[in-house]
Amino acid sequence: MIELAIVGGGPAGLTLALGLLRRDPTWARRMVLIERARYPREKLCAGGLGERGWKILARLGVQAEVPQVLIAGISVRSRLGHHIARPGLCGRVLRRVEFDAALAEAAVRAGLVIQAGTTVRDITESDDGCVIHTDQGDMAARMVVGADGVGSAVRRSMGLGGGGLRAQVLEVDTPRVAGDLPPDLIHFDASDRAYAGYIWDFPTPIGGEVRMCRGVYVLNVRGGEAAGVPSGDGHKLVELLGAYMADKGLDIGDCRLKRFGERGFEPKGPVATARRMLIGEAAGIDPVTGEGIAQAIEYGARAARLIHERGAAAPSAWGARLHGGRLGWDLAVRTGLLRAFYGSPRPRLEAAFAAAPRMLWAGARHWAAAPQRWGSVGLGLLQGGVGFLRGERPLLAAPAEAPLDPP
Ligand SMILES: Cc1cc2nc3c(=O)[nH]c(=O)nc-3n(C[C@H](O)[C@H](O)[C@H](O)COP(=O)(O)OP(=O)(O)OC[C@H]3O[C@@H](n4cnc5c(N)ncnc54)[C@H](O)[C@@H]3O)c2cc1C
Repeated sequence: MIELAIVGGGPAGLTLALGLLRRDPTWARRMVLIERARYPREKLCAGGLGERGWKILARLGVQAEVPQVLIAGISVRSRLGHHIARPGLCGRVLRRVEFDAALAEAAVRAGLVIQAGTTVRDITESDDGCVIHTDQGDMAARMVVGADGVGSAVRRSMGLGGGGLRAQVLEVDTPRVAGDLPPDLIHFDASDRAYAGYIWDFPTPIGGEVRMCRGVYVLNVRGGEAAGVPSGDGHKLVELLGAYMADKGLDIGDCRLKRFGERGFEPKGPVATARRMLIGEAAGIDPVTGEGIAQAIEYGARAARLIHERGAAAPSAWGARLHGGRLGWDLAVRTGLLRAFYGSPRPRLEAAFAAAPRMLWAGARHWAAAPQRWGSVGLGLLQGGVGFLRGERPLLAAPAEAPLDPP
């Protein structure tokens, strides 16, 4: 019986494999990664990767040499204004078809065995291990890690539902147009309070040129109505994105529409049984923004540390390790902010944000895993607190289109 089977070869599963092989090359014969597709395989995603994720991979000795657009800042539009924070290199936009294939190649070079073209259907657990039922026959493993994303078969096999934070996402690729921001910025338009979510414009490298990946993210929060979070049902994604694009002179009818789902992280939610554990989007990612690549990488790196330390006992310790660690806290804070962000306090929060644009700088630094300037954060919290208390009075709204100087 093999010691470890990883189901799913996206950033979470591949980082886990890379992390184990980096610690102990004998993992090459003690684990297998089962992947439904064959590389290079497409994964619907805008490909925005914060430096936090890139730095973790660099520590594992991996540098994916794939086409990418370097990102120096973040732009956000709300009802109350438009803000740009440009702290310098804070992330990059890659194409997942190329990035995931590069990670897989690095892992195979390090010794990983990938069983591609194999779909896991179900898993049964016994005292000494798991039987993995696949479309290519059954396999036995001492423990299984589910890194199989939003539709996780491993999660299903554990009797866990889809979760209470599910998003629908639609994206298209288009040329750049005159009104687009400079290509070193990623842009979020959260000016429509009718739904919990936003529209994005990310520069993206396709065929040697910079084009645009545009999309709409609409979150559905189970029970969110009680906190004033609009239901995600009934929103027509094509119409939302189409109207936004029409303002830029683009016709969504000319584009290939790409739809997918996402799952948000639920603090203290179950992520393991005695022999199975979930990482990456199978466990849950940031529900406020739908950001999941850097989180998937961090999940993989943390799971590798635990499995290396505890071996087959790792799944029993995973819940406490995840929820008590930096990643669990970060995701829990984001999930905790969700109801405020998209619920009834939203107008006041937007006012707070408009009064304290330096908080966007703090957000960009967080995305980049760059050191925070705590004095500036403290001042931002104070300014934001005043803005929150005052609400939407026009005096506090920042002038539209005003890019900000560094605080
Ligand atoms: C439209 C869209 C845009 C997004 N944009 C961004 C963005 O810009 N930045 C960002 O950070 N995040 C973004 N995300 C989120 C991000 O794509 C995911 O959170 C991230 O890919 C999760 O990584 P993962 O490794 O957990 O899972 P995945 O990347 O989904 O990988 C799972 C792997 O498991 C395999 N698999 C699935 N089921 C089985 C099975 N039964 N048997 C075997 N193999 C299986 C799949 O083929 C896949 O290779 C976006 C998501 C969407 C839908």
